[in-house]
Amino acid sequence: MLSEIDRRNNEDSVLRGERSPFDRRSFLMCALASGAALGLGEIAEPAAGAAQQKQNDAQFTVEAKFYQKLPNRKIKCKLCPRECTVGDRERGYCGVRENRGGTYYTLVHSRVCAAHVDPVEKKPLFHYLPGTIAFSLATAGCNVNCKFCQNWDISQSRPEQVPADYMPPRRVAELARQYNCPTIAYTYSEPVIFSEFLMDTADAGHQAGIRSIVVSNGYMQQESLKAAYGKMDAVKIDLKAFSESYYKNVVTGQLKPVLDTLVTLKKMGKWTEIVYLVVPGLNDSDQEFRGLAQWIKANLGEDVPLHFTQFHPEYLLKNLSITPVPTLERAKAIADAEGLHYVYIGNVPGHPAQNTYCPKCRKMLVERVGFTASKVLIRKDSCPFCRHPIPGVWHV
Ligand code: SF4
Repeated sequence: MLSEIDRRNNEDSVLRGERSPFDRRSFLMCALASGAALGLGEIAEPAAGAAQQKQNDAQFTVEAKFYQKLPNRKIKCKLCPRECTVGDRERGYCGVRENRGGTYYTLVHSRVCAAHVDPVEKKPLFHYLPGTIAFSLATAGCNVNCKFCQNWDISQSRPEQVPADYMPPRRVAELARQYNCPTIAYTYSEPVIFSEFLMDTADAGHQAGIRSIVVSNGYMQQESLKAAYGKMDAVKIDLKAFSESYYKNVVTGQLKPVLDTLVTLKKMGKWTEIVYLVVPGLNDSDQEFRGLAQWIKANLGEDVPLHFTQFHPEYLLKNLSITPVPTLERAKAIADAEGLHYVYIGNVPGHPAQNTYCPKCRKMLVERVGFTASKVLIRKDSCPFCRHPIPGVWHV
């Protein structure tokens, strides 16, 4: 019987054989190439030859922080709930961590395969520095395999399969400053699996006066969560469903550790927003929406922003249709009725539920057009009309 890691390695091979490796590579490198226009021209070209690749591998290889040594040069990874047991010269499920002689290494420190300047609303974070931009980056790899992944080219690839640049933490902070970004965003793939790089970059950013935000599935262990996301200034968690069966069958993960992450982030006092991608027929029942809203209210409070976003057919779920807008409106109506104060509809341009309204006087406080906050009326963290406090971080 195949182990989980063997199965994943087999899947990698299948993927390699099935398609041209980087059908959407143009998107990713576009992000870097567009650096020319953005002024990122000095970023090195991706490594080409074998010698260069070897040299770069050493640059990117740093001992992992969260693992336990076992007999016979094996290790147990303690970064995420999979707890991969990895033999010498093998890798864990995520494909970016390797055991070399009984010491575990990350292979993606400073190995940036996508970098871009995005509006913070695109993460989406709606209650955190609206109208600002974030220097956004990713490495290859992920610790789950969502069937709807939009960035599967990088998330489901090994580091060697994706062109990347050497971008150490201080360089990231310099670039963020150069582009007037008050934040660095760890996003696109799954930042859990590049935690060491994220932590070092957050430190470099803070030294330069730049904050850090992370867009994550939240599928991690408590110790690594506290250490890594303890350095974050804001967090967006993708809560992909409110059922273990969906997590098992569609995400290849588990719901419970993600809920634990959300509770711990609240205890840590981290500004957190939740995104729920509504996939037609798979996680869109009234019962699930109600259970989700009730859990959020009971465990995190009514002020946590919840974004119901529209699914677009991608990757392994191309057979499904786009989420109908009435389904998103039904989800919002249920969450509103359960008492959540800030329930948004996402990926539907022009929908009025993209805006922020005061939960007391119902006046509009933040107007959003596309990914831009076109009007922010909040003053002193409160509604200017009725003085009701509006939770969030509204000004740099
Ligand atoms: S981060 Fe998770 S998937 Fe990757 S090696 Fe560690 S336990 Fe396995």
